[in-house]
Amino acid sequence: MIRKTSLLITLFLISSVSLLAQDKDAVIEAIIEEANENSQLETLGHQLMDGIGPRLVGTPQMKNAHNWAVAKYESWGIPARNEQWGEWKGWERGISHIDMVHPRIQSLRGTQLAWSPSTSKKGVTAELVILPTVSDSLEFVNWLPNVKGKLVMISMPQPTGRPDYNWEEFATEKSFEKMKKERDEQNDAWNQNIRNTGLNRRSLPIALEEAGAVGIVASYWSRGFGVNKIFGAYTKEIPTVDLELEDYGMLYRLVESGQKPELRIVAESKEMGKVPTFNTIAEIKGSEKPDEYVILSAHFDSWDGGTGATDNGTGTLVMMEAMRILKKAYPNPKRTILVGHWGSEEQGLNGSRAFVEDNPEIVNGVQAVFNQDNGTGRVVRISGGGFLDSYDYLGKWLHEVPREITSEIETTFPGTPASGGSDYASFQAAGAPAFSLSSLSWSYWNYTWHTNRDTYDKIVFDDVRNNAILTAILAYMASEHPEKTSREKAVLPISNRTGEQLEWPTPRSPERDGGQN
Ligand SMILES: [Zn+2]
Repeated sequence: MIRKTSLLITLFLISSVSLLAQDKDAVIEAIIEEANENSQLETLGHQLMDGIGPRLVGTPQMKNAHNWAVAKYESWGIPARNEQWGEWKGWERGISHIDMVHPRIQSLRGTQLAWSPSTSKKGVTAELVILPTVSDSLEFVNWLPNVKGKLVMISMPQPTGRPDYNWEEFATEKSFEKMKKERDEQNDAWNQNIRNTGLNRRSLPIALEEAGAVGIVASYWSRGFGVNKIFGAYTKEIPTVDLELEDYGMLYRLVESGQKPELRIVAESKEMGKVPTFNTIAEIKGSEKPDEYVILSAHFDSWDGGTGATDNGTGTLVMMEAMRILKKAYPNPKRTILVGHWGSEEQGLNGSRAFVEDNPEIVNGVQAVFNQDNGTGRVVRISGGGFLDSYDYLGKWLHEVPREITSEIETTFPGTPASGGSDYASFQAAGAPAFSLSSLSWSYWNYTWHTNRDTYDKIVFDDVRNNAILTAILAYMASEHPEKTSREKAVLPISNRTGEQLEWPTPRSPERDGGQN
């Protein structure tokens, strides 16, 4: 693969006449060579995912990650800093252990949710109960005293632990259709029953806690083998844990059959008051136009059921590796190349919104922003983000990237701006040309996104390397581009959903005092 690349470049060099083109190709060749011959991706990935671990906002691990990134950049000769933009509830995960202790002993696979209140070291041991079927909130209120001293199961038990693709492969068509129909009906009935209680996902655990429950047991299956999504707890005093589908289903059936199963839940954690939240910023200063910026963008934080490997460890690796390579292959850029590793994207793009709000002069000087945040796969989609002239420059830059990297990329010009989803939206809202480098899925949505399985082993390093090369070349081309990029906005299309013309999103302020609910 490496040899083929250099051969292509050599052929192109021979056919090219201008000295400028040769210089340009030399930089691109150096970028590719550094990425392939001296890749740091595996080392960075191991240090970040395995060594530091998940990066939930407000945890000591998030702070460790910011400090690690600054030290890395400095070791590469790139000045870096952590910029505080707000505060968050400080919390640290402790030891968790969940066992069934009646009617028999079995250690269970589960995870306390982020920000779950702590149990004592001995934990809490109690009987499990399930929610009753009720016709209205009064009936539910009358039932509520039953939860006193109990652990309450609040999720629907899944009828199958096999993902749909597995059914599709092996089931008869008739039985697959039957399963889906029954599951849909079960879902509808479950949701209707929750509505009948007058409560929702957020208020139900709190009502149970206030009625004297001693813990909440949930299960958020992610529709793959062994995968659950792990988000945050809403309870204030009692622990909230997620159990994997298999264990949750077993316990639910035992409750239904009158076996009165009991669990012991040890879920220790530490509350640490308010702690500062940061973005890590590193810059290679521009030599000709230091006040114009090419921004490499990837959120640094993660949920903490796994280690945040594909959301957004891989985006982080792409941007760090691209910066390292650029510093070697293109040390004196025309424009400033700045990388932003944003905090608290997961709670609402907070770090990037703060950066945009706090740095209007940088936002005005943006030549281009490249953001990556949807997993480990090769970049296969790039949209012009609603910038009318984006084809003229982004198209030109992409043309300089080797075909083997761009051949699968589908482009949409001028495209439409994003209203959220990831940090490029914060820049687009402020009118700065920002683009999402969107990846091939690699089963992202069910297997890794916000799950307990988002770990180092899911990283596909060849694809990440591909993306680091792409990003470095795009940054180089954007930096060298003769003119400042146009920000003219396209006339946006009529929305299929609302039937009204789409409007350009407007900048939103970040949450700067988070987790204080
Ligand atoms: Zn993400």
